[in-house]
Amino acid sequence: MKRLLLCALIMSACAAAQATDAPTFSPERLSADVKTLASDAFEGRGPATPAEAKTIDYVVAQMKAAGLQPGGDLKDGKRSWTQAVPLLRSEIVGAPKLTLALGDKREALTQGEQIAVRAPMDGSTAVAIADAPLVFVGYGVEAPERHWDDFKGVDLHGKIAVVLINDPDFETGVGDFGGKAMTYYGRWTYKYEEAARKGALGVLIVHETAPASYGWATVKNSNINTMFDIVRDQPAAVHPQLEAWIQRDLAVAMFKHAGLDFDALKKQAQTRAFKPVTLRGESLSASFKVDKSVITSHNIVGRIEGSKHPEQTVIYSAHWDHLGVGAPDARGDRIYNGAVDNATGTAALIELGRAFAQGPRPERSVVFLNVTAEEKGLLGSEYYAANPLYPLATTAGVLNMDALDPHGPARNFTISGSAKLGLLDDLIADAKQYGMSYTADPKPEAGHFFRSDHFSFAKRGVPAISFGSGNDWGNGGLKAGKAAEDEYVARHYHQPSDEWQASWSFTGMARDLRLLYTVGSQLANSDQWPDWSKDSEFRGIRDASAAERK
Ligand SMILES: [Zn+2]
Repeated sequence: MKRLLLCALIMSACAAAQATDAPTFSPERLSADVKTLASDAFEGRGPATPAEAKTIDYVVAQMKAAGLQPGGDLKDGKRSWTQAVPLLRSEIVGAPKLTLALGDKREALTQGEQIAVRAPMDGSTAVAIADAPLVFVGYGVEAPERHWDDFKGVDLHGKIAVVLINDPDFETGVGDFGGKAMTYYGRWTYKYEEAARKGALGVLIVHETAPASYGWATVKNSNINTMFDIVRDQPAAVHPQLEAWIQRDLAVAMFKHAGLDFDALKKQAQTRAFKPVTLRGESLSASFKVDKSVITSHNIVGRIEGSKHPEQTVIYSAHWDHLGVGAPDARGDRIYNGAVDNATGTAALIELGRAFAQGPRPERSVVFLNVTAEEKGLLGSEYYAANPLYPLATTAGVLNMDALDPHGPARNFTISGSAKLGLLDDLIADAKQYGMSYTADPKPEAGHFFRSDHFSFAKRGVPAISFGSGNDWGNGGLKAGKAAEDEYVARHYHQPSDEWQASWSFTGMARDLRLLYTVGSQLANSDQWPDWSKDSEFRGIRDASAAERK
C-alpha cells in the first residue's frame, strides 16, 4: 500500500521498486555452465552420440541442485527427467535417378545441380515414380482466414505440384500476407505439408534467391544429405513422397516448353483469381533406394508444480544440442562446441529454474524444457509439441531462448522474426522497467519466426516466441553491438570456434533473465490467456481449443 502510494507520486521510483521484485541472476553461474557445456569434453553435444548422456547428466544435476522436480516421461507413475525423442533418419542410397520429360525429350537431372531432392520422410524405403504429371499451384497456399485458395479443388493424387517460395504478397510488398514479412504460408515446410494434405505425390519448390532469402548453395547443402524427422504415426499426412527444390532457370525452361510464361503466371499467382495450371506434355520420374533407421534422443524436462492451477503450464525452452564432431576448420579443430549456440540458452534455463524454485511458488506450473535436435530441424520441440507431456490447450505461453549474447547489457531486445501476440506485448511492457526497448526484426521476410524452437508450439496455436538479445550495447552502442553480431555470424556461427571466452562478462544475460523471469512469473501467477492478434495465422487453431481454457 505504502509502495503503491509512493509509486503514484514518483513514477520512476515505482518502476525501480517493481524491477527489484525480480531476483538477480549470477553472471558467474551462467559463465560456469556455458564453460562446462561448451568444453571439448562435451564433444559438441550431438544428439544420440556419447555426448548426449554426458549433457543429460550435467543438466539434470544442475536442475536438481536448482530445486526443480523431474517433469519428463511417466515411468511407473513417476516422472523421469527426460522425454524420449525417437527420430527417423533417412538417406538416399547412391545418386538418385531423376528424369524430366519435356514432350518427346527426356532430360536427366543431376542431384544438387538443377534439383535438390530430400531423402523421403513419409516412411518410404524406395521411390519409384514413373512419369508423374506436373501441376503449377502458384504459392501452394490455402488460407481460409484470408479467403485464399491456390488449389481451387485440383486433384493432386499421383501428381507433382510445382510451387513458388514465400507468400503471395512478398514481391508486391502489400497484400493479405503481411506484405514483405513472411507468414507461415511462405515457408518451405508449409509448402510440403499443405501439398501432402492435398494428396500430392511430390512437390518441386522453385528456388528464387530473394523470396527464399538464401542462395542455391544453402538449398543444396541442407537438402541432399541425411535427413531427420520425428517418428510420426502418419508421416505421409505431412510429407509427400518426393520433396525437392529446383533451380529457377529449369522452372522457366519447363514453363516455356509447356507454352507458358513463368513471370506472367507468377503475377497471376499473386491474385486470388489464380487457378492451377498443368505443364502439358511434361512429367517427372524418380527412382532410388532409401536407407532409414530410428535413433533415440531425449528432451530434458524440469518442472515446478503450480500451487493453484497445476494443470496449467508456462514453458521456458532452449535447445541443448549442437553439431557434434564434424569437418575440421583451418586450425584442425573438429569439435563444434556451440558455446553461444546454445550452451547460453541452456545455462539461462537452469538459472531461471533456480529463480523460480527459490522464489514464491507460482500458481501455474512452470516447465523448463531443454530440447534436443534443434539443429536437425527443430525436432525435439516438434516432438514435445506433437506428444505434449502437459496439454497444449492449457499451456499459457512459451518463452524460448537460443544463442543469447554473453557480453554486457544492451538497451534493447528482439525476438526471432515478426509476430503479433499478447506475449510480445507483455515483454515490451515489462522491458520498460529495465530500461529496455523492443527492436523488431529488420528482415521479417527471411522468416526467422519459423526457424526457432518456439515455432513448434506456435504452429499448434500456443502463444510462443524466441527472445533475442539486443544489439544496442550500454557500452559502445549499436556500433559495438552490431560489430559483435557480424563477427559472430561470420567467424563463429556453426563453426568449431563457437567456444567459451574468459572475456565474456555474462552481465547482459543476467539482466535479460530478470525480464524473462518477470514476464514468465506474471503469466504463471495469472488467470489470463494471452492470445495471437486477430489477423494472425495461428489465432484460429488456438481459438479452436478455447473451451478447454474456460
Ligand atoms: Zn541454436
